[in-house]
Amino acid sequence: MLALLLLLQDPLAVRADTLHPVHDALHYDISVSVPDTGSVIRGETAITWRITGPGPIRLQLDTSLRVTRAALAGERRLVRGEWRREGSVIEFPQARAVGDTVVTRLEYTGTVRDGLIIGHNPYGARTAFADNWPDRAHRWFAAQDHPADKATARLRVEVPRGWRAIANGTLDGADTLASGRTAWRYRMPQPIPVYNMVVGAGPLTVTSLRGRSCASPCVPVTVWSYPQDSAYAVSGPFRRAAEIVDWFTRLVGPFPYPSLAHVESSTIFGGAENAGAIFYGDRLYRDHRMTERIVAHETAHQWFGDGVTETDWHHLWLSEGFATYFAALWDEHVGGDSALRHTMGAAAASVFEVRDSSGSRPNPVTDRPILDSAATDLMGLLNTNNYPKGAWVLHQLRGLVGDSAFFRGIRSYYARYRNGNALSSDFAAVMSEAAGRDLGWYFRQSLTQPGYPVLDVQWSYGSAGLSLLIRQTQKPEWGVYALPGLELAIDGRTERVDVNGRETRIFLPAYARAPAAIAVDPGRWWLLRSTVTRAP
Ligand SMILES: [Zn+2]
Repeated sequence: MLALLLLLQDPLAVRADTLHPVHDALHYDISVSVPDTGSVIRGETAITWRITGPGPIRLQLDTSLRVTRAALAGERRLVRGEWRREGSVIEFPQARAVGDTVVTRLEYTGTVRDGLIIGHNPYGARTAFADNWPDRAHRWFAAQDHPADKATARLRVEVPRGWRAIANGTLDGADTLASGRTAWRYRMPQPIPVYNMVVGAGPLTVTSLRGRSCASPCVPVTVWSYPQDSAYAVSGPFRRAAEIVDWFTRLVGPFPYPSLAHVESSTIFGGAENAGAIFYGDRLYRDHRMTERIVAHETAHQWFGDGVTETDWHHLWLSEGFATYFAALWDEHVGGDSALRHTMGAAAASVFEVRDSSGSRPNPVTDRPILDSAATDLMGLLNTNNYPKGAWVLHQLRGLVGDSAFFRGIRSYYARYRNGNALSSDFAAVMSEAAGRDLGWYFRQSLTQPGYPVLDVQWSYGSAGLSLLIRQTQKPEWGVYALPGLELAIDGRTERVDVNGRETRIFLPAYARAPAAIAVDPGRWWLLRSTVTRAP
């Protein structure tokens, strides 16, 4: 019975996260006060929940933050026993009916250790930037800290005099307080994952970008940077940032949020794709290493990752593989086919081998499948499987079904799951629909098999024609791949062959002489390695 159940489970729908959302958070009201000095914050989070089953409402808050007040629904303060805390988990017992909504409110204070980075930027100015990925949001606000539970949000951040603050969505107002400090209020009307809910503040310069074109509806795009870096940012990497938004809008569908701010920040990552307010690492500005491709990658995340969010961390390729491929598509848009081939070639090289100061060696991550339910370290998921190999899953798919079905499928997938969540099985179903045939085999091969095909092509020529033996020589643990319609360029002529199984034999009678050159997959539509030799 168990074996049967395992067989019946779709491997593309496996969920492996340990934290499963048990209630549905509909809306967050987050307020945080950034102090003039030090890192002691005061904060408040009110969450509107829809009850989806029996049991307590459970959320997380870092143990460094001491709860000073807890309340349910109205403003009645809860007494001991009406809520409890064990480490970073806070529970509100409740007995409401399924479908009811309830509001939990927590006030807290303490030294923030992570998630909201308060410190000095490279120019010595004090700044504060949230940095939540993957589950570091609850280090500074109370949350059900999992991407499967998206919610709308209002964010209020109180900052020192003279600072500007950014957060997700639309600016509702900036109120000057009696102390001279300012409270900035933002509102995000679309549900976004918790790791996207951010505030950022400091002495920042804001530049509005007006693209030459403006897709409908027009999305305001701004660049927020340290004053010292604003000229570099606006004339350099962000020069075409508005154009990138317009182009992805035409390619995929409407931009999901009211506006987009590109923000220089102290994120530990190169870029963090917060919905409507992308944060970039300031090191890249200081060294002038920001590239348009990073901007394209993070902008693509607004559709994929933010707009459509993976239901389970182990399906991260739906976010990172997509952003990597759509940045490559921007390369293609700007530089043509050869630019795309170059970018995808570099992506393939990083899947095949790790290169560092000690040389190059086989990439150990390749021995694991992209959907790796055994992975427990979320930071470890930021690997070559989820980025370049994930991009190759899309590129191969495009080669397999053709541009028109591929982009039609991408647009349907976005339209269907926008503001929601998806698993790999959901994407596979939409793409099968778009292609008019079942592509389950392709997604199982690409996402649940490790490695890639390594082809050994041997040819021999006789008076009757050309014989080819294509053997798959990759490690047995990687399995065997199907490569339907694999292209071979034989003396400049294109042949399409269906590679299946460990050995594929092909006979081509139409050759009058022995070939001078055989190239495997000349258009580079498959992630593979190959060698071609004349049979001894
Ligand atoms: Zn990314």
